[in-house]
Amino acid sequence: MHLEELGDATKVVEQAVAAGVTRLIGVGVNLEQSTNAVSLGHAYQEVWAGVGHHPLEPSEPDFRALRQLATDEMVVVVGEIGLDFEHVGGPHNELQIERLNELFDIAINFDLPVSVHNRGASHELLQAISRHKGIRGVMHYFALDWDWAQRFLDVGFYLSFAGLVTRPSRDELREVVKRCPADRLLLETDSPYGNSQKRMNVPNRPAYLIDTAELVADLRGVSLEQLADQERTNATTLFQKMK
Ligand SMILES: [Zn+2]
Repeated sequence: MHLEELGDATKVVEQAVAAGVTRLIGVGVNLEQSTNAVSLGHAYQEVWAGVGHHPLEPSEPDFRALRQLATDEMVVVVGEIGLDFEHVGGPHNELQIERLNELFDIAINFDLPVSVHNRGASHELLQAISRHKGIRGVMHYFALDWDWAQRFLDVGFYLSFAGLVTRPSRDELREVVKRCPADRLLLETDSPYGNSQKRMNVPNRPAYLIDTAELVADLRGVSLEQLADQERTNATTLFQKMK
């Protein structure tokens, strides 16, 4: 979940827990949001934090401060980070790659996984991953076909699926959900974005993860409980400090 526009955090967390979500990660898109995520992680037993700098974030990254924040015990991932070559008017591609390399270094330094945003930059991301020995992480909000899925799986990454898989037009993505190895599949809401089909008109919330989970369980022919068990294992394997 992103922290901006979430409103009353207590309510959001309580609603999620009531819906059966037991582990949440608040991700930072800049230093301020990353700091908020860490505070939220300390305030709620069910919440952990990501510190990052989104590729489209307009402010300059403060790598020193992010490094410092990454040492906090509640930080389980460096994210949200990544590359976005499709958005017009964002930081130019070379600058995004430069920042990504720096953020990958932070992740490796502190033995943290990364949560990676990717729009139109799959080749460049695979290059960056191959240049950083020991980097591990997840392709967040995965939205590509099986061919690309395999390439990211081949470099050891997890694939994370959000409400997008519930949209009628996304047959190709549902195919990826079916074929993804069980031990590399993660679920997320990307709230307040990433709504499922049936909740298109309301801001997304961690509690609505169930919409994606039900469909994913169905597509993979497992019970919701089996999927939940697998997800718990996968999340705590990748995000090691999130026990
Ligand atoms: Zn993203």
